[in-house]
Amino acid sequence: MQFDFKTSFPKSVSIIGAARSGLAAALYFLDKGTRVFISDSCSDEKLKNELISKGLSNVEHESGCHSDKVLNCDLIILSPGVPSNLPILIKAKDMGIPVWSEMELGFRVCKGTFLAITGSTGKSTTVSLLGEALKAGDKESIVAGNIGIPVISLVPALSESSFVAAEVSSFQLENIDRFHPKAAAVLNFMKNHLDRYDSEDDYYNAKKEIARNFTKDNYLVVNADDPRLVQWARQMQNQTNIIFFGGNVDGYDCFWPQNGRLYYRFYGTDGSILNFENMFIKGGHNHANACAAAALAKVAGVSDKMIEVGFCRFKGLEHRLEYVSSIGGVSCYNDSKSTTAESMLVAVSAFPKGVQLIAGGRDKGCDFSVLDQAVKKYVKNIILIGEAAERMEKQWSGLVPVFRAQTLREAVNIAFEKSTSGDTVVFSPGCSSFDMFKNYEERGSVFRELVNELGNRENSL
Ligand code: ADP
Repeated sequence: MQFDFKTSFPKSVSIIGAARSGLAAALYFLDKGTRVFISDSCSDEKLKNELISKGLSNVEHESGCHSDKVLNCDLIILSPGVPSNLPILIKAKDMGIPVWSEMELGFRVCKGTFLAITGSTGKSTTVSLLGEALKAGDKESIVAGNIGIPVISLVPALSESSFVAAEVSSFQLENIDRFHPKAAAVLNFMKNHLDRYDSEDDYYNAKKEIARNFTKDNYLVVNADDPRLVQWARQMQNQTNIIFFGGNVDGYDCFWPQNGRLYYRFYGTDGSILNFENMFIKGGHNHANACAAAALAKVAGVSDKMIEVGFCRFKGLEHRLEYVSSIGGVSCYNDSKSTTAESMLVAVSAFPKGVQLIAGGRDKGCDFSVLDQAVKKYVKNIILIGEAAERMEKQWSGLVPVFRAQTLREAVNIAFEKSTSGDTVVFSPGCSSFDMFKNYEERGSVFRELVNELGNRENSL
């Protein structure tokens, strides 16, 4: 049975997984008068609390298992955290009951146009940049999906001329059917999430699902620096329009960084959108994200000027190399989400010189030597906190001056004391936060407060 949500509507829906998107779907269906049944493998107490918190305590439910009760419905909605190969889902499919991700549901209900972004990393940043450009371009739009806002909680209110900037994970792509964005960007492909997939190919193929319904009316935006994505794009070119980003690929529409600016070739027009220096978010990875977001914004008809305005307003996502403020010519970035040496490397390399690096926390055993060259090239001083301080000091003390601090407050003070105008204070711990904070969010918020306090003191002098 197919439902178009205008003339045909499911009378009874089972929802598997009572997390954010499953509960948002439940609220949507209850509002439509549909019978809803929620099934979750968690404990009864946890499920009841979850349902109470969303005002869903009267909804039929089961906990601790997924029994055949799930099958008494016209449609099953699956939360992204739930594996698609559960025995109950195989039974459902055998019985002809459709199984959809919440993304498919959101797409079916939405009157507007979807612009989708998937990939291993950079999704939230890119979808947020796109959202800023759409806003600046005065387009009715929302940013939703894997970024933490269920699509179904927002799309019912949208008009036909609206746009949905949708962050889509490979899990959400496992159960789509007619999902058909106007344009989709596949940012990159890294070897994470392999815990859920049998092989790299399975993971890769899940991402490719984003374009399964594409035709010549659509645009597939792919990373020119990823050979596997390039090969896929060339296979897809008879089916849809290809746009590359990150590199200038002969014969194709492209968005690429060159000499510090974002250039494009699109629909027979060449142009340049902005100077990357004017964006708050820094680093080659963010230039690539901006190129992908610009391609999608152009498909939506946003002007170059308004893309520039939107991108240059964006201060970055919280705790991910997020711009905090500038004090006496010293700008300051919060990268508290960085818990590995690789993230530190991305952060440190994002600034041309004069980095005052604050790092340390609970040691996860990373190989910090991957940073040695970047430390020599970009870092002026390192200020260390937390349990990993000793090991980090041993690694870098021969390369640049290293200081130890007992608290984050002390570290911030030292970093600013050592700075001169034009330097950048970067808090990229490269470690987990649990030796001194509840989580990385708390650690980043404390850092921001300390910097803002310092800024207020400077201003009042
Ligand atoms: P996601 O939503 O895919 O998890 P985010 O936009 O939240 O990605 O970025 C998470 C981290 O990934 C960033 O702090 C940065 O260190 C890194 N990152 C972001 N974009 C890219 C990119 N295009 N390539 C490589 N690393 C990136």
